[in-house]
Amino acid sequence: MLSPREAVRTLPSYHPPLAGRDGLRLDFNENTVGCSPRVLERLRQLGPEQLARYPEREPVEAAVADILGIAAAELLLTNGVDEAIHLLCETYLEPGDEALIVVPTYSMYRIYILAAGTQVITVPADKKFVFPDDDLCNRITRRTRLIAIANPNNPTGTVAPAEDLRRIARLAPDAAVLVDEAYFEFYGKSMLETRSEFSNMFVARTFSKAYGLAGLRIGMLVGDADQMRAVRRVSSPYNVNAVALACLPEALGDQAYIQQYVSEVRESRARLERALGASGIQFWPSQANFVLARVGAASSFVELMRRRGILVRDRSSDHGCEGCVRITLGPRAHADRLLTALQETLEEFGMAQGAPQR
Ligand code: PMP
Repeated sequence: MLSPREAVRTLPSYHPPLAGRDGLRLDFNENTVGCSPRVLERLRQLGPEQLARYPEREPVEAAVADILGIAAAELLLTNGVDEAIHLLCETYLEPGDEALIVVPTYSMYRIYILAAGTQVITVPADKKFVFPDDDLCNRITRRTRLIAIANPNNPTGTVAPAEDLRRIARLAPDAAVLVDEAYFEFYGKSMLETRSEFSNMFVARTFSKAYGLAGLRIGMLVGDADQMRAVRRVSSPYNVNAVALACLPEALGDQAYIQQYVSEVRESRARLERALGASGIQFWPSQANFVLARVGAASSFVELMRRRGILVRDRSSDHGCEGCVRITLGPRAHADRLLTALQETLEEFGMAQGAPQR
């Protein structure tokens, strides 16, 4: 009888709660207003010929590499960062190997590592979610073949110092060290330049967050040219669709749009952090477009917010995140709606310590 590989038979399934997302979507770290109008204009110009042809990735790749100031051979456009993670696992992992992740972190690292039949070694962050550099370095062995680090991290919004990331790349020369910069635009610091010092370090970026293109599925992986040659071998030549390829130069070309969006999100993030602080709710200062907050009964909180038209994400089952929700930020008008709903919910919830009485 047909049976999946053992690694797949025992694989946990990851079902993000995507159904029925009516309301202000502050649950998936997406851009809450959408992409640049230049992208929409380009979409409108697409005709049947562009859809009939197989997508040609290389010219867009060369243009993006140029913008980033790297060689085209160092860059692979991918079907979101998810595919970049998957490709690294396919390229470097074998059964019997070990891969290191810090927990809590993004769920798909574990899934793709396990699917490769490789053992996941989890390194827990402390209660403040400070990056556990020493603990992680202590777990590096000769069998370590992948170390995946989200920077900023999801769901905590905390970051790993550049010096820690360099140390890890130095101590694990036989491992692919992935620095996942999905939230780079909201943080502003990158390992892209440093990456070229290390043949085993990779940087991933996405257009799903700040750029508002999660539905197009487009991201990128940057690494040493020789290593990227191997990664390219396991990727489909048509991994990024023609619509995404057509839109990408427009998205990247409208940096004014991104800067404006990012600056509003940062302002919203500061407002939310102030409101949480004033209500005595524990949160972790974030460098991303979301904030993790310990509200207590997370599922009731999510439901009360949903009734007010605001979707937020229950993260209480993540390691160290008991009672926590993750709240995505959008621009000013969305922060206004969020903060009104938050205040009402906290009052209903009976937790608005220090909040003004009505
Ligand atoms: N990495 C991190 C840290 C993320 O939070 C996410 C999305 N939640 C991804 C990667 C996936 O991004 P993409 O949409 O580009 O696949």
